[in-house]
Amino acid sequence: MSARILVVDDILPNVKLLEAKLSAEYYDVVTATSGPEALEKIPELRPDLVLLDVMMPGMDGFEVCERMKRDPAMAHIPVVMITALTDSEDKIRGLEAGADDFLSKPVNDIALMSRVRSLVRLKMTVDEWRARENTATQLGVADDTAELLESCPQNANILIVEDREFEREKFERVMGIDHHTLSIASNGMDAMKLINAQEHDYELIVVSLDLQSEDSLRLCSQFKTNQKTRAVPLLMTGEPADMERIAQGLEMGAHDYILRPIDNNELLARVRTQIRRKRFQDHLRSNYEMRLSMALRDELTGLYNRRYLDARLESYLQEIKKSGKTFGILMFDIDHFKSVNDTHGHGVGDEVLKIFAQRLQDQVRSFDLVARMGGEEFVSIHPDIHEDTAKYIAERLRRSVADSPFPCKTQSGYLEITTSIGGALIDGSYENIEDILKKADDALYKAKDGGRNRCVFADGDSLEPNDYAESSRKYAD
Ligand code: GH3
Ligand code: MG
Ligand code: MG
Repeated sequence: MSARILVVDDILPNVKLLEAKLSAEYYDVVTATSGPEALEKIPELRPDLVLLDVMMPGMDGFEVCERMKRDPAMAHIPVVMITALTDSEDKIRGLEAGADDFLSKPVNDIALMSRVRSLVRLKMTVDEWRARENTATQLGVADDTAELLESCPQNANILIVEDREFEREKFERVMGIDHHTLSIASNGMDAMKLINAQEHDYELIVVSLDLQSEDSLRLCSQFKTNQKTRAVPLLMTGEPADMERIAQGLEMGAHDYILRPIDNNELLARVRTQIRRKRFQDHLRSNYEMRLSMALRDELTGLYNRRYLDARLESYLQEIKKSGKTFGILMFDIDHFKSVNDTHGHGVGDEVLKIFAQRLQDQVRSFDLVARMGGEEFVSIHPDIHEDTAKYIAERLRRSVADSPFPCKTQSGYLEITTSIGGALIDGSYENIEDILKKADDALYKAKDGGRNRCVFADGDSLEPNDYAESSRKYAD
């Protein structure tokens, strides 16, 4: 996921160090060496995240942050404050100034990358949500949920897996401030019981990495594979000596961590960030939005319709022309679909279309877009990915259709379905959306011509399935 990060620090070697670390992870890094310079550059550079040193001569980091958060054009950009001291007072001031997260100097690599990744994902989710709202408003279907963006999230359902009384009490005390409801388990078995008994999913799971009776990392991995908890953010708590296991946890898909002794403000801030993110994400997927935007949805599958796709594609194109980023587009056409109708009837054809739509939707990120173009043709859009990742996604989607038969009202109870996929990576050089769709359509035609049940990318040959067999973990969300 490429994102632009602005590093602000008055000491040049600090700037260079952070720049080197972030560039190595393929972030696009821009820099400023004073508060005023940062404020001047932000509107033009449009960073996705600002890493802000607190101690700077003249205008300090707190003031820069306050000014950003007061300015509607910058307020939505997440800010990570970098403090020289692990001073709790600094954190409180930072929170009051509107900072989204903290890092202490010297900056630990694992901390840096996990914080950056988490906030960049949050921003992408929020950006996509705002853009959809804009498109909906332009098309005359307004969605009135702006308060989700501003609010401090409260009343969340949180699962705590912790076996130490002292820590549990602390969680209850601190999370009580935001009126969260806590369920507490002391081991994995109790946690799973609570999860299964719960009608609504938890919005956050906090797991201690030092459970007496349990391999906590194994438990995290179970949470990431269980249907009911897969999409729930995981916050790990551990000792400074656990850093290696924390890194493993993050690699496995945990979202964040916090070190003991747990600072109350830090706990509150991290919990808020994760819950806010989860709520945006849910919102993007929610039925509520679906009802609101019926006019933009395809009735049969519930996906966005052609009218919405065209409007959104146009705004994606304008965005990448400004930002210099890229997006991936995939076009799907179900193979031999006419014979499904001819052999089993139109009703079964409709069932297949519904399941097909669901399988695509289940495999993409919350800020990716899946739409039904018409008939048995679908399109998905994937902002901010590299070409190679787009190919992994294409193969993963192809397999999600071909590898397990569709349950249908036929004699055998199921049907084998396959799809052909045409893909392209789109940059700002495209003139209009017709050219973009044509590029994907030409690739799709080649996939049909090459024998169906395959993916072809623009100007290339069929993807070799074995080359793209591993699903890219970093894409999951
Ligand atoms: P190919 O592998 O070349 O794509 O073959 P195909 O049979 O899938 O291609 P074709 O485009 O000829 O067939 C599409 C069929 O999809 C024809 C049309 O009747 C059917 N269809 C279009 N919309 C719907 C729908 O909403 N419901 C059902 N059941 N069928 C639909
Ligand atoms: Mg067709
Ligand atoms: Mg077809």
